[in-house]
Amino acid sequence: MTNFPLEIVTPDRMFFSGEVESVIVRGVDGDLAVLKNRAPLVTPLKIGKVRIIIDGKEKVAALCSGYIKVSKEKTTIISDSAEWPEEIDIKRAEEAKKRAEKRLKEKPSGIDTKRAELALRRALNRLDVAKMK
Ligand code: ATP
Repeated sequence: MTNFPLEIVTPDRMFFSGEVESVIVRGVDGDLAVLKNRAPLVTPLKIGKVRIIIDGKEKVAALCSGYIKVSKEKTTIISDSAEWPEEIDIKRAEEAKKRAEKRLKEKPSGIDTKRAELALRRALNRLDVAKMK
């Protein structure tokens, strides 16, 4: 299998940089698998997992929304946050989930429903990825 360079960048770190066989992300139009020599593109990402295949082995991480850019030279993912399973604080994600669920259930006046829904999706995604340790 031919490799290509992948970088995953967040505001506070270079989360991943290396040669990979493929990378699979959740684009706004569905799952997107990138292999070497894929046609160039830029597309927004949804909250979800990124799957990185190296030497036939899969590494999974939690991603927030962001963008993927595929070019001839390399593929770059830019995201507000990224965590490996072992980095995820389960208690924190459970608390974020409870907070968001409470807001969505009680709907206090002035609640930004979209914001609460996104917070809930981030928390559920982290809890899901944390199980993949
Ligand atoms: P919270 O309400 O707990 O802050 P959030 O979804 O609003 O959750 P984000 O804004 O997505 O948090 O992330 C802010 C920073 O905190 C990022 O660097 C992210 O990687 C980190 N982070 C958020 N939740 C967790 C978690 N459960 N475990 C580890 N890191 C986390």
